[in-house]
Amino acid sequence: MRTVYVNGDYLPENEATVSIFDRGFLFADGIYEVTTVVDGKLIGFDGHIKRLQRSADELKMNIKVDEPEMLEIHRELVKRNNLDQGMIYLQYTRGNPGDRDFAFPPEDTKPTLVMFTQEKKVVGTAVEENGLKVVTLEDLRWGRRDIKTVQLLYPSLAKMEAKARGADDAWMVQDGFVTEGTSNNAYIVKDGTIITRHLSNDILHGITRKSILACAQLLQMKVEERPFTVDEAYAADEAFATSASGFANPIVEIDGKKVGSGKPGEVSAKLRELYIEENMKAAV
Ligand code: PMP
Repeated sequence: MRTVYVNGDYLPENEATVSIFDRGFLFADGIYEVTTVVDGKLIGFDGHIKRLQRSADELKMNIKVDEPEMLEIHRELVKRNNLDQGMIYLQYTRGNPGDRDFAFPPEDTKPTLVMFTQEKKVVGTAVEENGLKVVTLEDLRWGRRDIKTVQLLYPSLAKMEAKARGADDAWMVQDGFVTEGTSNNAYIVKDGTIITRHLSNDILHGITRKSILACAQLLQMKVEERPFTVDEAYAADEAFATSASGFANPIVEIDGKKVGSGKPGEVSAKLRELYIEENMKAAV
């Protein structure tokens, strides 16, 4: 049984509880981060913690993220759960005001903080070997996708629709242009140039995206940060998606059409390799 963290306590998972009045439960008034663990070490921790504070600030949540304290809890969870590979999920909500009310609770309402580990193979996966199939779906999410909130119902529906169509994931599309995957940033490669949507409120500012683009620069690859159309994606030589737990995963099929050769591409493989190397050096 896992040991999880809730509001200052480490507890067996079946003893950890949150109020039914919690704003996270009633209003999806919560933010989260997922940090990947490899060899018991945290990947990109600093970036995740900084984004957490940004999400809190954008939603006017009264949260001061204490980075050393967060690191300590992450490490303690890794230790107590003997986690070698996987993720640590962290969620902050606006807390429990003791009733349901649209208005934010008083400033001194204590936020709820929950953290738990998830075991998952992240290095040497089948996806890395075989790639993923995606379908394109309209992006029906709200307009502040740069904030990492727990209101994940549409991405969840989109993922189910993708599975119903025999694919693994969905790439969401707005005005003909791909925004991102349900839980990852989207890229195509054409004539040696990597193309990925620029940062704005339309997409999550991926921690992996930032690191992968830095790797692309180290490898002297060309990068264009701009929206790309679904037709461009169909005609791409290669496609891939990045996320904390997936690193850079090859996409081999879009809407039933093979991408390039239909096999995982070289660019994403090289980026993945360098990403792991660089991030393992910096892991905490
Ligand atoms: N976009 C969305 C919508 C996501 O949910 C995620 C993963 N949480 C990402 C992109 C990738 O972000 P990161 O690299 O920070 O995991």
